[in-house]
Amino acid sequence: MGWKEIELECGIKEGNSTFLLKNVLNCWSVCGERCLRGGHEFISDGSSMKRREFLQGAGSIAGFGLLSGCVRKLPVGASVPGLPFYDAVPPLVPIRAHEDRIFRITVCLRPFRAQGPRMDVERVGEKVVVHNYGHGGSGWSLSWGSSTIAVKNAMEAVAAGGGSKDVAVIGAGALGLTSASLLQRAGARVTIYAKEQAPFVRSSRATGSWTPDSRVAFASKVAAGFPALWEEMARTSWTMYQSYLGMSGNPIEYTDRYGLSDDEPQAARRESKEPVGADGTVLDFARYESRIADITPRSILLPPESNPFPTKIARRSTSLTFNVADYARQLTTDFLIAGGKIEVAEFHAPSELAALPQKVIINCTGYGARALWKDDSIVPVRGQIAWLIPQPEVNYGFYYHKLNVLGRRDGIVVQASEQGEASGWNDANETPDRGEADRAVQELAAMYARMGAMKTGKRASA
Ligand SMILES: Cc1cc2nc3c(=O)[nH]c(=O)nc-3n(C[C@H](O)[C@H](O)[C@H](O)COP(=O)(O)OP(=O)(O)OC[C@H]3O[C@@H](n4cnc5c(N)ncnc54)[C@H](O)[C@@H]3O)c2cc1C
Repeated sequence: MGWKEIELECGIKEGNSTFLLKNVLNCWSVCGERCLRGGHEFISDGSSMKRREFLQGAGSIAGFGLLSGCVRKLPVGASVPGLPFYDAVPPLVPIRAHEDRIFRITVCLRPFRAQGPRMDVERVGEKVVVHNYGHGGSGWSLSWGSSTIAVKNAMEAVAAGGGSKDVAVIGAGALGLTSASLLQRAGARVTIYAKEQAPFVRSSRATGSWTPDSRVAFASKVAAGFPALWEEMARTSWTMYQSYLGMSGNPIEYTDRYGLSDDEPQAARRESKEPVGADGTVLDFARYESRIADITPRSILLPPESNPFPTKIARRSTSLTFNVADYARQLTTDFLIAGGKIEVAEFHAPSELAALPQKVIINCTGYGARALWKDDSIVPVRGQIAWLIPQPEVNYGFYYHKLNVLGRRDGIVVQASEQGEASGWNDANETPDRGEADRAVQELAAMYARMGAMKTGKRASA
């Protein structure tokens, strides 16, 4: 069985879809959405390459999203021994996976809304409230784009209201800080009112990845225009994030991610079922990443000779990492340097906003909006991270067997999603689970043990 370079050509279909290749190996890992570009991919070649049929499957990994509707041309290349030297996988420093190196366990609630984030404008007494909350697992990723829209609406309200440039922002998480910063750039005088600031906001407990369509909505519940709105937000955010590269402290950087699987190629076929939450809800999470495949680096399937992992399949992509500790500090500092003010305040009902001196308010309260605005459309999606002591030389991440690992400057994220995408659905429990954290680190240790065994010449099986 050889490795062949093939040309791929893909069409786009929205929805929670993964397509599998009948009779051939690993379609799910071949048919990545980056193949939209018609670039070259490497696949392990079975015997019948002329006709392919695709079956719908489920699941996708951040940065390894999968695409429906792929049409593949005939193989065009010769056998490929490995990656070219200029694109080789660098030596990967292993993570020191010991439970006693967990220095923190955090729990965060994704503020999920089936219809996507709330971004409408509401009048509350004398105040104009621009909503900017409910971004699910995509709040950091979409923040600049979503806040750009919120600020446009707020500045229109400022202009319509006679011109006082004082604007309030409620909340100092990802959405509050970016809204406040963009308001300043638009010429407003801004005060943030918030119960908590970083590192105590929920945004500070995020994984720190570019995941713009992670649990952001249900495909079946969004308005017709939402996919295009999502795309606008994602593109705006992506562009803004590039301007944070290369800064001291590395608030934002690119790092490599690996999607790993032990599946036998023939067993790669997956069921087309959507995940189901513990309460029985069918979770048809929207998938939009293919809409922006032209701006993100494409992923490649590593040829076996270039796969440093003990798994049969490894797929590599390069994506943005948010080093949230430094990034949130930088956003806050920039806001203060530009004359912004932060006041500690807690609101219990919309009517309390009447006491604020500002007439225009952007509401960035995240999961807090559920209680403040009595918005039961927000569903909590719990997620826990075990933080291992940072190792500066660990500058990669991987997804393996429901384990999401990311080497960040401010800690190594080890996140177990024991029920896959259904993990944490409608669970508002923010108490850390030490057992879950330990199990995640033990699984990580087991993966490295297998990797160590490879060095003795054996590629261990799962
Ligand atoms: C485990 C996990 C991992 C994640 N990983 C990622 C990721 O890798 N990439 C990504 O893009 N997204 C990720 N997310 C999603 C992201 O964390 C959220 O979408 C984002 O944090 C929401 O930001 P926010 O500003 O709306 O809310 P928050 O960060 O919760 O901020 C809300 C602010 O409002 C204030 N507030 C709330 N209520 C009140 C009130 N009544 N009165 C006064 N102030 C109030 C709070 O004090 C706070 O300042 C993850 C989420 C989880 C749970």
